[in-house]
Order: sequence, then structure tokens, then C-alpha cells
Amino acid sequence: MNPFTYKRTTDKAEAIREVAGKTDAKFLAGGTNLIDLMKMNVQSPAELVDISRLALKKIEEIPGGLRLGALASNSEVADNKLVRERFPVLSEALLAGASPQLRNMATVGGNLLQRTRCYYFMDPAFPCNKRVPGSGCPAIPGYNRIHAILGTSDKCIATHPSDMCVALAALDAVIRVESPRGARQIPMTDFHRLPGDTPHIDTNLQPDELIVAVDLPSSPLARRSRYLKIRDRAQYAFALVSVAAALDIENGRIKAARLALGGVAHKPWRALEAEQVLTGAPASAQSFAAAAEAAVRGAQPQKHNAFKIELAKRAVVRILDEVANMTTGGAA
Ligand SMILES: Cc1cc2nc3c(=O)[nH]c(=O)nc-3n(C[C@H](O)[C@H](O)[C@H](O)COP(=O)(O)OP(=O)(O)OC[C@H]3O[C@@H](n4cnc5c(N)ncnc54)[C@H](O)[C@@H]3O)c2cc1C
Ligand code: SF4
Repeated sequence: MNPFTYKRTTDKAEAIREVAGKTDAKFLAGGTNLIDLMKMNVQSPAELVDISRLALKKIEEIPGGLRLGALASNSEVADNKLVRERFPVLSEALLAGASPQLRNMATVGGNLLQRTRCYYFMDPAFPCNKRVPGSGCPAIPGYNRIHAILGTSDKCIATHPSDMCVALAALDAVIRVESPRGARQIPMTDFHRLPGDTPHIDTNLQPDELIVAVDLPSSPLARRSRYLKIRDRAQYAFALVSVAAALDIENGRIKAARLALGGVAHKPWRALEAEQVLTGAPASAQSFAAAAEAAVRGAQPQKHNAFKIELAKRAVVRILDEVANMTTGGAA
């Protein structure tokens, strides 16, 4: 048991002050990831600042979109009428994750910062460059069925586990954060990092920055969007491969496309080349197959996960077909 102090506050400024300048203090939201990792001795912060009662739970309309408070629960976001109507991919992604009980506790901010489910990272008996920089990566020579096929490095091949984040990447979400230095916004695609030589740094968020909200820009694309998650069990399992897709279609032609993959990389993987293939193309099986090829171009499988390449291609084709056949209503 590692001793730690616990402080709960209802004041945002106080929460930010409390963590500022300390390397071993952490915000605590729903606790569904951080507390597990503390129990397993994977993370051992000296101070927890409980932010779960801050007034950051609102889901509200803003000019041009919707704002999700960082402490809105995964259930509240998934069930929200505006989210379901205007951003169905996000609702579907959230409902594909965890269990109802966990979704009631898990928050938007905590979901963005959940750590990888790499078995070696989760077990301190093994070395791991993400847990202890420079100690090595046993997943590369080891059992790597759940690991990444895109954007890997010789230091880490972990995947990002979140479903929600894959949808946020496809929706061009913007993360709003605050710290003693003021407020800033981080585009979702710049929020998570590839492992490179620093796999211990998951995101571009600074340790003292508090996520306060996530903004979702409305668009015709967002209304015509869906999420597909492929996993070992039908429920309560992380994605082997997942796809968030959004299409704007006019007269059978794709005006704009967004495609993001989960379970394949250290961050939600925006398939930009595939989006280019789709833009201007007819909404046809041929275009979807070409996009699927583009989505996994450059993939480098490990010993046990080459199946993910074919799985990802089939998932892309299936979800694009479903999105193309969606009926959507109302203005963006
Ligand atoms: C059994 C199990 C199954 C699961 N299955 C899935 C699944 O299928 N798909 C999926 O996507 N997820 C799944 N999850 C993960 C779950 O979604 C995350 O644990 C959850 O989203 C984390 O949110 P939280 O509020 O509990 O975060 P916490 O555990 O409280 O915090 C996580 C991290 O975020 C930081 N943090 C939290 N809020 C903020 C903030 N506002 N600003 C700055 N830092 C912050 C904390 O300091 C901590 O480092 C599963 C979890 C469990 C336990
Ligand atoms: S893949 Fe990354 S998280 Fe997993 S053991 Fe290697 S360094 Fe650690």
C-alpha cells in the first residue's frame, strides 16, 4: 500500500491550485481507471484531488455545436438526446464500452486519459517502457495479439483503449483545458501521442492541466455517423479493432468523410488517406473497399496480430456501408 493524501473540492480554481507545481498529484474523477491502477501498483500518486463534485457536468448547446462538461458521465453523454440525434457515433461508441455501472461512474475527462490495457503495462512484475522509461518492451518479443499495427515504435506497441476517443477523433472534437497559465484548446487529433521514444507520455496535456470540456462541432457529417466495435466477447471487452465513420452524401456522391480506427494504434487513428479516397467518390462498395485498403496502408503487424489488418479492412467496409444507408433528419 502506497500512502497518499486525498482532498475533495467543489471549487475548480482550488482544484487547479492544488495540483499546480506537484509532480505526484493527480485529479480523481470517476476513479474507474486510476484507482484500479493504484491498487495494482502501476501508478502511485502521493496526492489525489477529487474533482468529481466540480460543476463541470453540463451538456449544453453552444454556437455551432455541443459542449460536454468534463465530468459528464459516459452514461449521461450516451443517453443525451442531442448527442444521439446529432452525434450518433459518439453515443454508440460510449454504449459499446465497459458496463452500465462503469459508464455511470466514468467521465468524459477520465475516459480521454485512461491508460493502455497492454498486459505488461498492467503488471509491475514485467519491465515496460511506458511504466518505467528505458526498462524495455516485453510486448515486442512477447504475446502481442491486442497490440498496435500502425504508428508503433521500437519502444512501445501499445494501443489506446478508449471507444469514446475514436468517435471524438472522427468528429473533430476540441478539448478545452485550464491550468495556472490560463485556458487553451487542443484539437482531438493532437491530444494523444504516438509512442516514439517517449511512450511514457500518452498525451499532450500537461500534468497540471484540468480538462474542463469537450466541444463537438455540428455538421451534416456528424449526423450521418456510426461506430463499429469488434471484440472477443459481445460485451465488456476492449476493441480488437473499432471504426468510427461519418459521411456527408449528396446525390449518391460523398462530399466529405471522416474515418477513425481504434485498437490499432497508440492513439485514435484518423485514416486521412482513406478520407481522401472517399471524398468526391460515389458511395459504393468499390469506394469503400478502396478506402479500407488506404486505411491500413503502412500497417506493420507483430507476431500475433496480423489478423487485425484484414479485420480492420472488413470493419471499415461494413461501417461505411451502414453509414451510407443511414436515414438522417433535421439540420446540422
Ligand atoms: C472493467 C472495465 C472495462 C472497461 N471497458 C471499457 C471499454 O470497453 N471501452 C472503453 O473505452 N473504456 C473501458 N473502460 C475504461 C473506462 O472507460 C475508464 O476507466 C473511464 O472512462 C475513466 O474515467 P474516470 O472518470 O473513472 O477516470 P479516473 O479513473 O478518475 O481518471 C483517469 C485519469 O484521468 C485523469 N483525469 C480524470 N478527469 C480529469 C480531468 N477532468 N482533467 C484532467 N485529468 C483528469 C486522472 O487524473 C487519471 O489520470 C473499462 C474500465 C473497466 C474498469
Ligand atoms: S507495448 Fe508499451 S505499454 Fe506494453 S510493454 Fe511495451 S512499452 Fe509497455
